[in-house]
Amino acid sequence: MNTLQSWGKYPHVNSTVFTFSDPSDLHTILDGHDGIIAHGNGRSYGDSALGKQLIHVLPYNYYLDFDTDTGILTCQAGVLLSEIIETFLPQGWFLSVTPGTKYITVGGALASDVHGKNHHIRGSFSDTVLDFTLMLSDGSIAICSHATNSELFRATCGGMGLTGVILSARIQLMPVRSCMINQTTIKTRDLKDTFDAFEQYKDSTYSVAWIDCLAKGETLGKCILMVGEHCKDDDLTLKNSREFTIPCEFPSFALNNLTVKAFNTLYYNRVRERISEQKVSIGSFFYPLDAIDHWNRIYGKGGFTQYQFILPLASSYDGLQEILSHIARSGKGSFLAVLKLFGKGNNNYLSFPMTGYSLALDFKIEPGLFELFDELDAIVLKYGGRLYLAKDVRVGRDVFEVGYPEIDTFRALRAEYSLTEKFNSLQSLRVGI
Ligand SMILES: Cc1cc2nc3c(=O)[nH]c(=O)nc-3n(C[C@H](O)[C@H](O)[C@H](O)COP(=O)(O)OP(=O)(O)OC[C@H]3O[C@@H](n4cnc5c(N)ncnc54)[C@H](O)[C@@H]3O)c2cc1C
Repeated sequence: MNTLQSWGKYPHVNSTVFTFSDPSDLHTILDGHDGIIAHGNGRSYGDSALGKQLIHVLPYNYYLDFDTDTGILTCQAGVLLSEIIETFLPQGWFLSVTPGTKYITVGGALASDVHGKNHHIRGSFSDTVLDFTLMLSDGSIAICSHATNSELFRATCGGMGLTGVILSARIQLMPVRSCMINQTTIKTRDLKDTFDAFEQYKDSTYSVAWIDCLAKGETLGKCILMVGEHCKDDDLTLKNSREFTIPCEFPSFALNNLTVKAFNTLYYNRVRERISEQKVSIGSFFYPLDAIDHWNRIYGKGGFTQYQFILPLASSYDGLQEILSHIARSGKGSFLAVLKLFGKGNNNYLSFPMTGYSLALDFKIEPGLFELFDELDAIVLKYGGRLYLAKDVRVGRDVFEVGYPEIDTFRALRAEYSLTEKFNSLQSLRVGI
């Protein structure tokens, strides 16, 4: 028995953990075990990569091929995005889509179909993948792309490990001429101002906003919006972002409404001008939290979770206003509150993105939190939105199903390929996938 945790450190589960070094080992593991799930680097917040039996894919991590003319990388699924950046950025290639941490595996990126700060321009991670290989329940290996085994492709991207184990992928990297980003920072006064700023900068390649979720009344929805473009200065020397470590779990009282309020005030006021420009490293633009090792310890031994939802564009403003007011009234603070504008979603069955605004908020696990989330769920559904499975640890089957109308097609595919008994996570059992 072993304990592999997810990023939120909640829940704690004892699991039997298997590793493999070649596909025949993996076949043997699958042959002997039902109710198993792939585990990448455990950077999902909730219980999608947790269960009684786990296949640890992280050690399966060789590069298989790289075409220096086209930027197409073929690699095993355990390769971390951080490794891809370290190897290929100095050669002038960067990930076409990257989430807010580089410490995730290629398999985990595909299974959650992760999005980045350029979703409105470039779509999600699976939109940059040409094809991948997938081991099914019976040990057979399917090559999946938009043209070949396209149903398996649509189910696996965003399918949270429930269609098999991704073994390798061919990924399109993008050419860049610098390790730096030209960042423009815009400070807004309220939600209307925030929406206007997103609209004004909607053609920027990257955009993301930190929002003060404790602001009320006239300042509700005030934010710091950061937009960015790749520099073209031909400096491809990797910059080390300053790293420090949270040495141990903080006591649970350390993070409370007052400390979050103080942090939010400082963070907002540290930006003085309405608009400012900086040249920053790729590391600090895309992965500011990665510079703090073990930052998840800040939330204490009880752990934390993230509530991330997306609302259709037409209802985003009203929905966000209602949700932000509700959170501010609840007094439960989150200093990490990230607002993003998404472009058109793809046609994968369970991928999270749709055209609209998404808000992600971290909360310490404490009494009353899941009751607050239940109230937020009702508002999210009222405005036609849905929740992100990669961040979830508690949503019920009813709420999940309303948000993902193609769930029955997904279930039918699981049945057709005899995947239903073979691959399960705590999350899939809870939401009835
Ligand atoms: C600081 C931080 C910032 C983040 N920012 C973003 C963001 O901006 N955008 C975003 O979309 N996400 C974001 N995430 C979430 C993260 O990108 C996803 O949860 C990602 O899936 C984690 O990958 P992992 O390798 O750690 O996989 P795990 O967490 O181990 O697993 C996640 C899911 O992938 C499945 N899986 C893993 N490997 C395989 C495989 N080889 N075959 C089949 N299934 C597999 C698992 O079964 C599970 O369902 C963030 C997370 C953190 C901690």
